[in-house]
Amino acid sequence: MPENETTTTAEPGLENLLHESRTFAPSAEFAAQANAQPGIYDEAKADRLAFWAKQATELVSWHKPFTEVLDWSNAPVARWFGDGQLNAAYNAVDRHVEAGHGDRVAIHFEGEPGDTRTVTYADLQREVSRAANALNALGVVKGDRVVIYLPMIVEAVVAMLACARIGAAHSVVFGGFSADALRSRIADAEAKVVITADGGYRRGSASALKPAVDEALAPKDGAEPTTVEHVLVVKRTGQDTAWTEHRDVWWHDALEAADVQHTPVWVDAEHPLFILYTSGTTGKPKGILHTTGGYLTQAAYTHKNVFDLKPESDVYWCTADIGWVTGHSYVTYGPLVNGATQVIYEGTPDSPHQGRWWEIVEKYKVSLFYTAPTAIRACMKWGEEIPNKFDLSSLRVLGSVGESINPEAWMWYRRVIGADKAPIVDTWWQTETGAMMISPLPGVTATKPGSAQVPLPGIVADVVDDEAKPVPNGGGGYLVLSEPWPSMLRGIWGDLERFKDTYWSRFQGIYFAGDGAKKDEDGNIWLLGRVDDVMNVSGHRLSTTEIESALVSNPLVAEAAVVGAADEMTGQAVVAFVILRGEHAEKASTDEGSKEIETTLRNHVAKEIGPIAKPRKILVVPELPKTRSGKIMRRLLRDVAENRTVGDATTLADSSVMNLISAGLAKPA
Ligand code: ATP
Ligand code: MG
Repeated sequence: MPENETTTTAEPGLENLLHESRTFAPSAEFAAQANAQPGIYDEAKADRLAFWAKQATELVSWHKPFTEVLDWSNAPVARWFGDGQLNAAYNAVDRHVEAGHGDRVAIHFEGEPGDTRTVTYADLQREVSRAANALNALGVVKGDRVVIYLPMIVEAVVAMLACARIGAAHSVVFGGFSADALRSRIADAEAKVVITADGGYRRGSASALKPAVDEALAPKDGAEPTTVEHVLVVKRTGQDTAWTEHRDVWWHDALEAADVQHTPVWVDAEHPLFILYTSGTTGKPKGILHTTGGYLTQAAYTHKNVFDLKPESDVYWCTADIGWVTGHSYVTYGPLVNGATQVIYEGTPDSPHQGRWWEIVEKYKVSLFYTAPTAIRACMKWGEEIPNKFDLSSLRVLGSVGESINPEAWMWYRRVIGADKAPIVDTWWQTETGAMMISPLPGVTATKPGSAQVPLPGIVADVVDDEAKPVPNGGGGYLVLSEPWPSMLRGIWGDLERFKDTYWSRFQGIYFAGDGAKKDEDGNIWLLGRVDDVMNVSGHRLSTTEIESALVSNPLVAEAAVVGAADEMTGQAVVAFVILRGEHAEKASTDEGSKEIETTLRNHVAKEIGPIAKPRKILVVPELPKTRSGKIMRRLLRDVAENRTVGDATTLADSSVMNLISAGLAKPA
């Protein structure tokens, strides 16, 4: 707004730009059979702590039952179910066997080359027990840390559960990360053992993993000697592998030598379960610490209600890698604690063809499917004739996580993948929150494309202004979590000050998530992007998400990233990086063509949102910098837009992308 119209707030909230009014109510049929019924919201509101205690009692088995629910006296470090004792692996595996479900399939594994493996709960119990004994034999005991650096194979889940079984915390590091990223995470956790593989299959070939471990453990000038005593190596590809005698041990040898019986180590509810680093979209990754009882409770509760899981009949598939928090809560812990049958797929969605995922859905009759917006946009780019070739009629709930899903991508997901009837659950949460926080319930909520909508029953979230006052419906500001929740982080590993500073210093006593958000007229929450990414153009605070969604709604565009670059006139100017849809990419190769595209898209944004949001510059690029979990790293693009040296890019999925972008931009305009 012009100077003379400014409001009294020093920093006005995000402006409400995009208007989306489509809604999709659940079918009567779905609603009637759903796990979560409308009354669940009132039940949780009536007595929040009693509600969580009930979830913890019903969904989790306790060796020693808890009597206390929440102790917040040491805030911001919470204690949930603090006097209870349990074991995460027992909950994920043994109790299902004891309940007579040993023959139920826990994992349908599909390797990228097409090899398959079926693992029942009884199989899983034997393998996890052997692995737990093997870790004990290597000297790992309760309280130690183990780093896991594996491809998406069954052993990754077994390794996590084996750690949990003996009370050691795991720290999973993405298989795609470099030796340096691995070294710093090993050092930070002071790990005793690293579990890796010779290699894994990606994009049609065997890619080595173990050399990165060897490099990460090699002595380095100026660095402390490594704390790692042993490396356990899974044989996946059979490729040649360098070997360090006395340190390296083959996984299959260690398991073969180990007893098939193992008694789980009972731990306190607050015993550390894992450390996991955030994906690093806004800065240096943080080692997030999660503990056992509250984490398992919320992982199981959300998985059951948000996916409407029926463990006897559903086949669930989450495409996330275990290196990401989604792989922790919605591959390993949530589904297994709930006794679900799930699919694990090792490779990329386009190997050996762009229909691989849908082929897998058809093959295993997947009914609940969870993926990220970046994957949906990639499938849109490839064209709907590909999924149309497969029978996707088994799908009954579709989930999204990781970023805001642009309304256009949401509609495509619903129509092409969900046959216009499977409810979409857009789930907002973070590594720090441990489990889903804001999401529709599929049998209750009338869904809106692009909005995560409402806090789950038991969760208290809001959008506030600079003074921490909740904004009215229609207003924008900062997303906060006003009450502690069971799966909340218990700190940043070894850095209590950074924990307090990052999340608890902006607003007194409430958790600051770092995301901008708005509330629509019905009170639904819309995520607008990171507060660090919010742009300020002539006093207007604009959301990256909204401008990106406007760009993606144009048929020319497959994917867009928007940043604010310093501008003398306006404070910041909107700069957009776009990937064009297949058939239009050619056009951008000529100066004339790219000028025309730029004009079309600038006008399109002006029409969809308003002239203020019109990008100053639109750059056509072949790729966008993304983390391994598929999130766009806007801070790197801001560096490019402002002609700075590109910052920390260690968690990029593909480090050559930035060179590609810079090279493209160096071309004379
Ligand atoms: P870092 O904190 O190091 O920058 P990161 O925040 O990308 O990394 P994650 O914990 O994996 O690491 O991501 C959480 C963030 O992802 C949220 O804060 C939010 O910005 C975004 N996000 C996740 N799910 C959604 C969703 N459904 N809608 C909108 N944004 C989402
Ligand atoms: Mg974050």
